[in-house]
Amino acid sequence: MCLDHTSHTGRPGPDELVPSRYALRVGEIDVLVISDGVLALSAATLATNVEPAALKAWLDDLFLPLETFPWGTNVLVVRSGGRTILIDSGVGAAYPDFPQAGRLAVRLEAAGIDPASLTDVVLTHMHMDHVGGLLVDGLRSRLRPDLRVHVAAAEAEFWASPDFSHTDMPKPIPPVLRKTAGRFMDAYRSELRLFDKEYEVAPGVVVRHTGGHTAGHSVVRLASGGHRLTFVGDAVFPVGFDRPEWHNGFDHYPEAAAEVRVRLLREMAGTGELLVGTHMSFPSVVRVAADGDVFRCVPAYWEY
Ligand SMILES: [Zn+2]
Repeated sequence: MCLDHTSHTGRPGPDELVPSRYALRVGEIDVLVISDGVLALSAATLATNVEPAALKAWLDDLFLPLETFPWGTNVLVVRSGGRTILIDSGVGAAYPDFPQAGRLAVRLEAAGIDPASLTDVVLTHMHMDHVGGLLVDGLRSRLRPDLRVHVAAAEAEFWASPDFSHTDMPKPIPPVLRKTAGRFMDAYRSELRLFDKEYEVAPGVVVRHTGGHTAGHSVVRLASGGHRLTFVGDAVFPVGFDRPEWHNGFDHYPEAAAEVRVRLLREMAGTGELLVGTHMSFPSVVRVAADGDVFRCVPAYWEY
């Protein structure tokens, strides 16, 4: 085991005690889960359509704090067919109250990934904790000029006039979400590659529109050599397995989001494929098991 802080490119990497990356392979596809950090957010946003006592009981059972929930923020780097694809980008510096997050740029460097090597970016949606990392100066200026940024056409359209009427977020957040999505569109308009239903970004790497969480929310499905992994973005939160019908305060269309969640979880329980979710605890490499009308989250075994 190597104990120095040198990245595998030979350049010295940032000195972090915890590297916060997890590597796996899906057939011929290389996958790296990178943690952007943790968003400390009110636990109440996890369940906006049930009694507080039900949420308290769920948190109690898992030894989790009742007030502030530690939302992991996972990002993927995927390599397939000569392309290097960043999937989502963390929160960057979009919101001042998340001191434990916004680490993507430093952790890409620690993983030996030069931002100039990224050929594509895929965005599950345009909330600030998914696009904010792309707005950080140190990263933006190092991306290549022919970068392709894939996002659903419905998502770009949604943010021209976003509907927050069904959301239930902490008050200061919606204006920052609007502002960050606007900044992102201004900064990346010329790199955007919009798709309607789905798009194959690289061999076995398909981004597919689901809607629900936002109008253009999408998931990314990896398939190679009989192996599969789905990056579910914000379609499945940590409560989504055993409480799939609970509405999340950040869902713009909570009823549709619950339908998307149940459909995805049912399908994934059938295939036995891997699931990585943005806001699950790092590294969020799990499988889904059906358990009556609900689901169980089964952590995958470490294979390196
Ligand atoms: Zn999110």
